[in-house]
Amino acid sequence: MSRRTASPSDAGAEAEQAALSLEGVSHAFDGVPVVVDVDLTITPGELMCLVGPSGCGKTTILRIAAGLEELQQGRVVIHGRVVADGAVQVPPEEREVGLVFQDFALFPHLRVEENAGFGLVGLGAAARRARAREVLAQVGMAGFAASYPHVLSGGQQQRVALARALAPRPRLMLLDEPFSGLDTRLREQIRDQTLHVLKSGGATTLLVTHDSEEAMFMGDRIAVMREGRVIQVGTPVDIYCRPACAFVAGFFSEVNRLEGIVADQRVRTPFGALAAPDLRSGDPAQILIRPEALGVAPAEGGEAQAAAAGDGKGHAKGRVITARLLGRSSLVHMGVAGADGKELHLHARVPGRFLPAEGSLIDVALDESMAFVFPADDD
Ligand code: ATP
Repeated sequence: MSRRTASPSDAGAEAEQAALSLEGVSHAFDGVPVVVDVDLTITPGELMCLVGPSGCGKTTILRIAAGLEELQQGRVVIHGRVVADGAVQVPPEEREVGLVFQDFALFPHLRVEENAGFGLVGLGAAARRARAREVLAQVGMAGFAASYPHVLSGGQQQRVALARALAPRPRLMLLDEPFSGLDTRLREQIRDQTLHVLKSGGATTLLVTHDSEEAMFMGDRIAVMREGRVIQVGTPVDIYCRPACAFVAGFFSEVNRLEGIVADQRVRTPFGALAAPDLRSGDPAQILIRPEALGVAPAEGGEAQAAAAGDGKGHAKGRVITARLLGRSSLVHMGVAGADGKELHLHARVPGRFLPAEGSLIDVALDESMAFVFPADDD
């Protein structure tokens, strides 16, 4: 494959404005497709998270964008320059991208400052040192400039790796599971810091993660992948509040799953009938309800009223099975009579400490904006 560089005029108008554009990218290993017809556009300054289950093709996309994997089909455009298509394959070092991988390796024989300044080719020693110190300060590691990597903790090494990637001021950062080697508390701290460093520096970033919460924490927008395809792209609010399919709804939180049969574009639930505008009468449907969509309050009116099915207008009666404090929220397990009379086991997530007694009667209210109806076979 030739190594010529295409002119910006080769790229389409959208790709020219984008920081990174993947167009119709497909990839197979040993004849097995792992990336299928992916289109993805990241605008300058945007932080895009690519999220999906293990093995869905995220890393392969990142490697294709970086030039570490040779493109098989489609086109990759970085800041208006075609860096890979049928005729062009610009090598990674000429793509002006900063890379941080899961198994980031610092050079053990170089001090932290030398590691951070490693990619600063073409600068004099003093300028290189100044820039290395600057990025180390950004990630809170200036005090370790003279140390060797082996004395640093995992989180500190991670921050040096980030500084090293940022130092040449790449126009595009590609991060693959950069926080995965860190324990929970440290991961939260480092990703918070990384978010601020990336956003304050105006970097355009594609970050790969399998962690849906991390994607929502970090991403201006999120691209959800499944089995090689990008199945939804949107802001965290779009993805969480308007999931395109049952898989996306279930990937971003635990969900309560109910079943029903559609009649007149509605499907019955213990909380009344929910709209199912895209389904035909007689179709089996699944109803996915986020645990925070269920508000729980002690039932008024005692046993007799609690035995009734609820008002069918967003409310149902239930009985507490058990309740657990999870820290910031409480999880209430409850039994609620289903539309067919059988008891459903549902979970409600309630802010703060809310621990009703086991067996107590409760009123359960549904926030319909967090309940989603899909065909039963949509998964
Ligand atoms: P993870 O979150 O587990 O890293 P991923 O979504 O990043 O997964 P990829 O690493 O892109 O997924 O892998 C996609 C599929 O391609 C997997 O089935 C993987 O085993 C396979 N694969 C990746 N690299 C190669 C390779 N060099 N040769 C053969 N198969 C590969």
